[in-house]
Amino acid sequence: MSGSAGLAADVAVVGAGALGAATAAELAAMGARVLLIDRPGSPNASSVAAGMLAPAFESVLEEATPERAALLKGARDLWPELAARTGVELIRDGAAWAGPEPRKMAERLRTLGFKARLKDGKAFTSDDWRLVPSQALAALIDAPGVRYRRAQVEGLERSGDGWELACADGEPSRAARVVVATGVHKTMEGPRALKRTLARVSLIKGQIARVRVTPPPCVLRGEGVYVVPDGTGVLVGATMEPGQRDLLVDERVITELIRRASVLWPPLATARAQWARAGVRGATPDGLPLAGEIEDGLFAALAPRRNGWLLAAMIARITTASLSGRKPDEDALRFSPSRF
Ligand SMILES: Cc1cc2nc3c(=O)[nH]c(=O)nc-3n(C[C@H](O)[C@H](O)[C@H](O)COP(=O)(O)OP(=O)(O)OC[C@H]3O[C@@H](n4cnc5c(N)ncnc54)[C@H](O)[C@@H]3O)c2cc1C
Repeated sequence: MSGSAGLAADVAVVGAGALGAATAAELAAMGARVLLIDRPGSPNASSVAAGMLAPAFESVLEEATPERAALLKGARDLWPELAARTGVELIRDGAAWAGPEPRKMAERLRTLGFKARLKDGKAFTSDDWRLVPSQALAALIDAPGVRYRRAQVEGLERSGDGWELACADGEPSRAARVVVATGVHKTMEGPRALKRTLARVSLIKGQIARVRVTPPPCVLRGEGVYVVPDGTGVLVGATMEPGQRDLLVDERVITELIRRASVLWPPLATARAQWARAGVRGATPDGLPLAGEIEDGLFAALAPRRNGWLLAAMIARITTASLSGRKPDEDALRFSPSRF
């Protein structure tokens, strides 16, 4: 296929956060010519995230059913293949509950099907992994077969057998099919089905801080707060602020987050934030993402709530299968954009 702007592709993926970049890498691995487009601007939710791939603690803390816990574990298990293909570095140093009643926590983890044992007075699981978002995003965007373009897509319109993407720089792109992975951004014009899908995405702002202190040996979890090793320091996160779309950081909120984190990791007691950031997560009423076809030739990869990194490999797999016209499996039906 060739296009007047020289940018024609089998698939254009709009949005290069965890979902779009992972989907682009997966599609390219299947042999598609992929154009990944992201607008210049402020950091996306994926780069603000802590990078935990945490089916175990996310399941317990969100009171997941065993079925949901198995889904999250299955999503994590798709990462090694994607990581090996793209150079994403997975860190498998586990996570420990540093809150009250570690024995009970270990039991709850085991009940949901995760490995757990007491270690240094904490409930430790090797089932939670992590990655470094900046490294992972760079590796996915750079995946073999993915062409990357910096442009804001302003609108999508059918054109012949495919789509024309109108871009803010005046140079349109064309592709046979389009995946919309624009996070919580809803400014792109397009067909009614797209508007309907984007309208289902609700917002949850999160604030997170980096602090320069000796990091713990693994992720530490507590009620509503976590500490994630980050090179020479730690990330302390994160707030859950439904309905908020601004990226403002509230110093008092960050100070309180660090105070609560110091109960998990005492070196934080006298520390101050080196920097703090905010990101906005997209979510749906049942807490699962929207992945799959929304109308002929148009696909969504959206709204993974607080587990965008954890779910990215699975969303990429489901979206790619949907693009290939494969019959949806059980996971794909759970993520179907038409389920609401
Ligand atoms: C503080 C915080 C901590 C978190 N920690 C974790 C964690 O530890 N583990 C985990 O699994 N998840 C975590 N999350 C959740 C995770 O970050 C999100 O679920 C995930 O990043 C969402 O990815 P996304 O690709 O949907 O959106 P985004 O990362 O927001 O990417 C969307 C992209 O689309 C682009 N875009 C939008 N509109 C257009 C347009 N019109 N044209 C071109 N490009 C466009 C944007 O520029 C952006 O790059 C955290 C979130 C926050 C806020």
